[in-house]
Amino acid sequence: MTDLTTKAIHAGYDRAANARAANVPIYASAAFDLENAERGRALAAGELDGFEYSRVANPTVDVLERRLAALEGGIGAVAVSSGMAAVSYALMCVGESGGRIIASKNLYGASVDALVDFLPEFGIHADFVTDINDLAEVESKIGPDTRAIYTETVANPSTEIADLEPLADLAHRHGIALIVDNTVPTPYLLRPIEFGADIVVHSTTKGITGHGNAIGGAIIDAGHFDWANGRFPQFTRPQQVIADADGKPRTFAGAFGSEAFIRRIRIKYLRTFGAVQSPFNAYLTLVGLETLPERVSRQVATATTVARHLTRTPHVLTVNYSGLGDTPQYALAAKYLPHGVGQILSFTVDGDRANVQRILDGTKLFSYVPNIGDARSLIVDPANITHREVPDDVRRAAGVTSNLIRLSIGLESADDLIADLDQAIANAY
Ligand code: PLP
Repeated sequence: MTDLTTKAIHAGYDRAANARAANVPIYASAAFDLENAERGRALAAGELDGFEYSRVANPTVDVLERRLAALEGGIGAVAVSSGMAAVSYALMCVGESGGRIIASKNLYGASVDALVDFLPEFGIHADFVTDINDLAEVESKIGPDTRAIYTETVANPSTEIADLEPLADLAHRHGIALIVDNTVPTPYLLRPIEFGADIVVHSTTKGITGHGNAIGGAIIDAGHFDWANGRFPQFTRPQQVIADADGKPRTFAGAFGSEAFIRRIRIKYLRTFGAVQSPFNAYLTLVGLETLPERVSRQVATATTVARHLTRTPHVLTVNYSGLGDTPQYALAAKYLPHGVGQILSFTVDGDRANVQRILDGTKLFSYVPNIGDARSLIVDPANITHREVPDDVRRAAGVTSNLIRLSIGLESADDLIADLDQAIANAY
């Protein structure tokens, strides 16, 4: 099984182990029979893969985890209850005990809020850069406590593309990890591990589930980072939860090697903080994933048509869609995203706040909804909704101004969407 379209339908599921059910069953069971004392101990210590309690692992969620790992080219994944749980767990797991994270300013609002305002309460600090592709600026922020570089592969809402390969090289030269949020492009359009990323996070709520019907997230581990290189004390500290058969505490790096990060996410984060994905949501996400290539390829085509039209629309000042081909990011789009940058685009309009509000209220087909990657087309004003909690300077650096409107293109016809935008914009002035 090599092609992504095939993996999206088959990867990670063993019919023989599931009553030959054609579709992945929903295992609505909180706990599982441990069978005998030795198996119970080995399961609890993470020495044996299997199921004991659904806060730690569940067979339906397990198929989703294996499928996402296969799609991204990772060695393992943990599904969680939301994209923000994935972002928070990944950043905390890397930054634990006094670490610093270099981050792009171009992030989803709640991720910025976590790094600026909340993770510092837990002793994890961020160093923001204005341009994540300015390697000199990024390198200037690397210090003895730096643990990771964090960026979105395609930023929401600017669609700016991160130049992953040199970022990964830079990170690895300094013994730090590259963690990326790949929500916007989905693994259909971009697989960051192929370009050196160490950890990939997703809000599966978006294009992966694709129908706006299940909140979820996932962390995927490339399995090639050395967590015992001296920068990450949390991985080399013996811990009781993974004690060996004689009760002797082991370290995550020692016990799990290249799988240390994803094991720590499951055994410490999922088990302790408990933001577990429900089997029902995992089922909806698995159903959505089956049509990922078809949905996203069509949405990219429509988004490109809509973006091109907006560049010629009265009252539209600028259009952000790196896939357009006439932006400074053309070369990055060609290298990383040959099949398009995704379903979202944003644009600015002239006039004032009242004009923006009239456009939002005037669309009939676009739903005014703070989500992306749905089968329905969505419209939102990021400054007031999705990036409301972001400090002014960071928001401006990310291009999130009060006259910016974001679209997430669904599966409707391009002609109908364009007609709806045209009438809403014309009537707003
Ligand atoms: N990352 C990105 C790029 C997002 O756009 C979002 C949500 O909009 C999130 C993370 C958070 O995901 P969730 O809403 O599933 O928690």
